[in-house]
Amino acid sequence: MSKILIRGARILGGEPRDVLIDGETIAAVGSGLSDRDVATTVEADGEMVLLPGLVDLHTHLREPGREDSETVLTGTRAAAVGGYTAVHAMANTFPVADSAGVVEQVWRLGRESGYCDVQPVGAVTVGLGGKQLAELGAMADSAAQVRVFSDDGRCVDDAVIMRRALEYVKAFDGVVAQHAQEPRLTEGAQMNEGVVSGELGLTGWPAVAEESIIARDVLLAAHVGSRVHICHLSTAGSVEIVRWAKSKGWDVTAEVTPHHLLLTDELVRTYDPVYKVNPPLRTEADVLALREALADGTIDCVATDHAPHPREDKDCEWVAAAMGMVGLETALSVVQHTMVDTGLLDWAGVADRMSARPAVIGRLAGHGRPIAAGEPANLVLLHPAYRGTVNPAGFASRSRNTPYAGRELPGKVFATFLRGHATVLDGKLT
Ligand SMILES: [Zn+2]
Repeated sequence: MSKILIRGARILGGEPRDVLIDGETIAAVGSGLSDRDVATTVEADGEMVLLPGLVDLHTHLREPGREDSETVLTGTRAAAVGGYTAVHAMANTFPVADSAGVVEQVWRLGRESGYCDVQPVGAVTVGLGGKQLAELGAMADSAAQVRVFSDDGRCVDDAVIMRRALEYVKAFDGVVAQHAQEPRLTEGAQMNEGVVSGELGLTGWPAVAEESIIARDVLLAAHVGSRVHICHLSTAGSVEIVRWAKSKGWDVTAEVTPHHLLLTDELVRTYDPVYKVNPPLRTEADVLALREALADGTIDCVATDHAPHPREDKDCEWVAAAMGMVGLETALSVVQHTMVDTGLLDWAGVADRMSARPAVIGRLAGHGRPIAAGEPANLVLLHPAYRGTVNPAGFASRSRNTPYAGRELPGKVFATFLRGHATVLDGKLT
């Protein structure tokens, strides 16, 4: 493999430095590095910011079974465009990733795609049915070495099943990632329960449906001495529970999506199903609490919940539309807009919340590492001064259900390197 020299990059937003990549590894970091034997020189002009490649704990790649909305190939291409070098592929596929065979299939497809590392998430229960524990140990021991288990899309609402899962994953240092949604409290729910749902006459989704499950699960995790991760926190109350659990020293982590950092339930007044998502968009007060919690570390990381849907599942009336939005290609821009440009996080903080911490939670080796000689060359180079309008027609994802179409967002990924190979260069897939 040939050498690549990145010249004048602001590592984690600091002073410009040169970074020499040799093969799969960062060979040197310094000033005025020689370009001898260098095949490609990337000019960062003292302006672009270099971060460790992003890691997503929560991606729906849809393969196997819903290749009309996304495949491992198109999803990992979208990830690379967004600056990601690793994604965790959620288990709610067809068939469900609840056995060693299916997780190995997804893992193998990821290796063949080559655009980013794919770490399969295993289902907690057979068929996401919530009744019978899946073969967690077999998935952990498989070639995919699953460490994150989730029934995402559904809540593990049975407390006994949740307790058993938390006990079981301790044997292999796993974590249960909970989609916190009390099912009875959200039957037929269409949007956040509040002023707007009352005015629109849509069935509300109360904050307590999320918060009651989180409260139960942090208590269960503490009781059995295990590790729980809370998916897509969306309310100010959820933040308070996680903050309390962490103050007790319990092994609790949490994620927030980019859309919950920016969008509110006021958008539902448009009745545009592009804003229909699970958990639902909440209020301005919730958005501000989530930003504060991400800034102070109560929320560990940003996860996209990239949820591609084909046009026919979204271009319909609100009540019939599928829930979810794509997120991989816009996540970094939304985080820059909501967290960096507001002064809540610096770029080192972004590297921590979008790369280092999710890699640790997922026990993913080789990602989220410092940018230093000897480390794997998993990197993203971004242009923070860039201003552009989101154009879904140009997405690498197979789906287009973004809530940001036509919206101006800051920043652009200029290059992504996966173990020294440029998957994106000059803003384009290679
Ligand atoms: Zn979910």
